[in-house]
Amino acid sequence: MSKMRFFALQELANRRPIDVEAPSNKLSDYYGIHVFNRQKMQEYLPKEALRAIDDAIETGTPIDRGMADLIANGMKSWAKTLNVTHYTHWFQPLTDSTAEKHDGFIELADNGREAIERFSGKLLIQQEPDASSFPNGGIRNTFEARGYTAWDVSSPAFVVDATLCIPTIFISYTGEALDYKTPLLKALAAVDKAATEVCQLFDKNITRVYANLGWEQEYFLVDGALFNARPDLCLTGRTLMGHSSAKDQQLDDHYFGSIPPRVTAFMKELDLECHKLGIPVKTRHNEVAPNQFELAPIFEDVNLANDHNQLVMDLMKRIAQKHHFHVLLHEKPFKGVNGSGKHNNWSLCTNTGINLFAPGKTPKGNMLFITFIVNVLMMVYKNQDLLRASIVSAGNSHRLGANEAPPAILSIFLGRHLSHMLDVLGAEDSANEEKKALKLGIGRIPEILLDNTDRNRTSPFAFTGNRFEFRAVGSSANCAGAMIAINAAMAHQLNAFKAQVDALIANGTGRDEAIFQVLKELINASKNIRFEGDGYSEEWKQEAARRGLTNINHVPEALMKYNDPQSREVLLGEGIFNENELNSRIEVELEKFTKKIQIESRVLGDLAINHIVPTAVTYQNRLLENLRGLKEIFTPEEYEVMSADRKDLVKEISRRVTAIKVLVKEMTEARKTANHLGTQEEKAFSYDQHVSPYLEKIRDHIDHLEMEVDDEIWPLPKYRELLFAK
Ligand code: ADP
Ligand code: MG
Repeated sequence: MSKMRFFALQELANRRPIDVEAPSNKLSDYYGIHVFNRQKMQEYLPKEALRAIDDAIETGTPIDRGMADLIANGMKSWAKTLNVTHYTHWFQPLTDSTAEKHDGFIELADNGREAIERFSGKLLIQQEPDASSFPNGGIRNTFEARGYTAWDVSSPAFVVDATLCIPTIFISYTGEALDYKTPLLKALAAVDKAATEVCQLFDKNITRVYANLGWEQEYFLVDGALFNARPDLCLTGRTLMGHSSAKDQQLDDHYFGSIPPRVTAFMKELDLECHKLGIPVKTRHNEVAPNQFELAPIFEDVNLANDHNQLVMDLMKRIAQKHHFHVLLHEKPFKGVNGSGKHNNWSLCTNTGINLFAPGKTPKGNMLFITFIVNVLMMVYKNQDLLRASIVSAGNSHRLGANEAPPAILSIFLGRHLSHMLDVLGAEDSANEEKKALKLGIGRIPEILLDNTDRNRTSPFAFTGNRFEFRAVGSSANCAGAMIAINAAMAHQLNAFKAQVDALIANGTGRDEAIFQVLKELINASKNIRFEGDGYSEEWKQEAARRGLTNINHVPEALMKYNDPQSREVLLGEGIFNENELNSRIEVELEKFTKKIQIESRVLGDLAINHIVPTAVTYQNRLLENLRGLKEIFTPEEYEVMSADRKDLVKEISRRVTAIKVLVKEMTEARKTANHLGTQEEKAFSYDQHVSPYLEKIRDHIDHLEMEVDDEIWPLPKYRELLFAK
């Protein structure tokens, strides 16, 4: 193993950037060439098929078999122009990545001898992959392994690696969701309906509300050879040991520095492939930590944006390999160095082109804006636990509420002016005054916001001018987790708002007045969720506790909040999940957590005992040899003086080696105990409380040994090598 480290370093010296050519220097020449978009549909589909797709997207009208055959045929003809040989239903099981099962277009003709190319409507619309190897949290009983994938018409088919990929949902034989997409589509439909009803209080022309998502993907790149020499990175996605590098991000020089040439080549190819797939990636830059980068597209409809994020994570992995890199999507690959998140920029937009989180041009428009902002405040305030549950994971727990910022407390940053304005509105007490404030105060919003330049980088849920930015999402996560929670909770909040307003109106209150009264109530009720200060500070933790905001640092505990009355009211009440699906979701998440800690614990135990301890003992033997030599040659008095430090080091190494062995043994016992517990909940809590703490304790000894043992025999690439190799 130690040889691998040095081979890897040698290989590194010979790396050169790989040339990447764009097919044309005009982006529009190749943008979207790998996606069956509108333009291709027009070219390859008859008019009635196109109309059927539009109806399916707009009103959910099912596509009949005959029509599906037409569409499948058109898709196949288009795919053939790209030399496509296979097709797959592409779906998002509850794992960390997407799944696909490739089938050839080939089928035997009726005579059983000739091969013919076939892709029928039946194959386009629905398939039956074996669901038994995907997490299902108890939904699927052992004798019924079937699951169905069904075409999601709203997300266009695309071609990757000579394979036609059809975005699909994935459900069990009994019709229950086994994936992220199914509940996401339901949450988006729920928010559309609820938001539209609220909008109609203001403007009858508004008949649809779309949720938008703009994600910002952070990631690390490490050299492929170094990566392969680190079993912990290979098996867990993060380093389970490694002393911090003398230099890491102190100077902030990475953020402002130029992008290294090998990385530029990788980014260029990634951009190209994204653009061919119609993924509107726009910005790419260095991030805070060394070898950390970010990629962000222009925002899109949530469902499409999320498919694109899943696809991009997949593309990154493949393209990185070509450039002899490995991409790390883990939230915390390196201890003591900035972790990776995936900010989710979220907004709601009407069919009439109004962004509901952007101030309007008229007082009426601004009242609409205030209505939505205030409902977001209340939504987050009431659903802190649900939102947190939607983003926690073993990996993300190293970012949130761990040794470093940000904390696991939900709060909203609005900016000084908007916050002040809400304070004023909330404080008005006479109805007439309220109306005045409405006309005067609300009418002034645009100018106020324009020069409102203060931005707060420490807020987990920040208003950034025309959208909210949910920053607690982990870099490896499927954004759907967060988007399901946010949009479902928003739907629920808007429904409650509408019901309150309607009740006042039914009692004879005027409409504007009713809206105003409810808003005022919500502004005051949700006040505690607003925080403009430093979200990373110790004072905020104390202040948040005084305000009664929750702060849950442990993953299993946070996950169990999916089952809280409030979360259930949202998720079951809005029809996002049924009881069975919700329970299964919690089971799957708990099990994922347990498995991740279990794997980390095994890998660490193995590395500690089979790599680190032998290396430390080898070095100790060398010291002992040295001591014996000194003793032979020098007088006892001289020897005493000369040997003191080495004797200490021998003792120190012994102490650490013994400690490691004892701790690994204890950790193994803790695992055994946990494994024997009955439920996923018990297991996850036990892994969290009794196994997880050993990871840090063992690591601490190893990291000290790394500083003591001769660099020449240290088996694993060190932090300085992983982080600074260019
Ligand atoms: P920053 O790093 O300052 O947060 P970026 O430009 O890196 O900004 O990312 C901002 C993201 O927010 C982009 O994906 C962008 O498309 C998205 N975005 C901008 N406006 C909206 C909006 N109204 N709704 C949703 N996302 C938006
Ligand atoms: Mg951002």
